[in-house]
Amino acid sequence: MTRTTRWLLSAAALLPSITAFVPATTPPALKLYVFDCGLMQVRNDSTFHPHNPPGVHRTLSDDCFLVVHPKGTLIWDTGLPESTPDGTLLANNFELHIPHKLSQQLREIGYDPTTITYIALSHFHSDHAGNVALFPKATLLVQRPEYAAAFGPTPQKFGFDPATYASLKSNPVKQLDGDYDVFGDGSVVIKRAPGHTPGHQMLFVRLPKTGNVLLSGDLAHFTDNWTNQRVPLYNFDSAQSVASMRAAAQFLKDNHAVLWIQHDHDQFVTLKHSPLYYE
Ligand SMILES: [Zn+2]
Repeated sequence: MTRTTRWLLSAAALLPSITAFVPATTPPALKLYVFDCGLMQVRNDSTFHPHNPPGVHRTLSDDCFLVVHPKGTLIWDTGLPESTPDGTLLANNFELHIPHKLSQQLREIGYDPTTITYIALSHFHSDHAGNVALFPKATLLVQRPEYAAAFGPTPQKFGFDPATYASLKSNPVKQLDGDYDVFGDGSVVIKRAPGHTPGHQMLFVRLPKTGNVLLSGDLAHFTDNWTNQRVPLYNFDSAQSVASMRAAAQFLKDNHAVLWIQHDHDQFVTLKHSPLYYE
């Protein structure tokens, strides 16, 4: 597609008088940006992989995404807090590095975080909820059990740190009871996938040129765990985690979709990063 055609398609999507002449089957002018929202050097990989002997190291990426749709924008996960000092050690196991700030990556492509329409987190752990305060006006799309766990009496029981996401209490919120078609045309769909946390979710995106993509959240942390359906020791519900992985595998097959595993550093380095984008 030429630059001019692309411009015409996105312009057509914005102008009601022109969209009236566009057939209903025309795919929306979607863009998907991939951001580097941090790097975690894991000192003891057995946390994720009970089969590994203690002391095995692993590098995890921490990806965030922006979906741009004619009807609005959606930030999917917000990464580690961008103010984290380089080399901070979390839980005596995760060494954190955030070389690129999410706010800066958004600014580079012309997006002011306060104008983003929707915010959705795969779950409320601090490596996904780290920068939610950048998006005070976005409507939070969250599974009902996740919201209850995060703002209930015992958030620590689920591995949540309420200080990370306290600001979300003031965002407009839509609590979900399962899958949710964000823009109403099937192109961007939140998929319920509990297990890692009570209301863990994934994001399915139908990209006209790239194909169908499923963003994993922490359904699995890297390809080996995904392929072998291994569950980290600290997941909220192990049986639910396996059931969600099986359902996701079937969903991928049925929809000819690929899984982007958000913490898989080997996969991350093969993706196009912002300011480039998928369409
Ligand atoms: Zn994570």
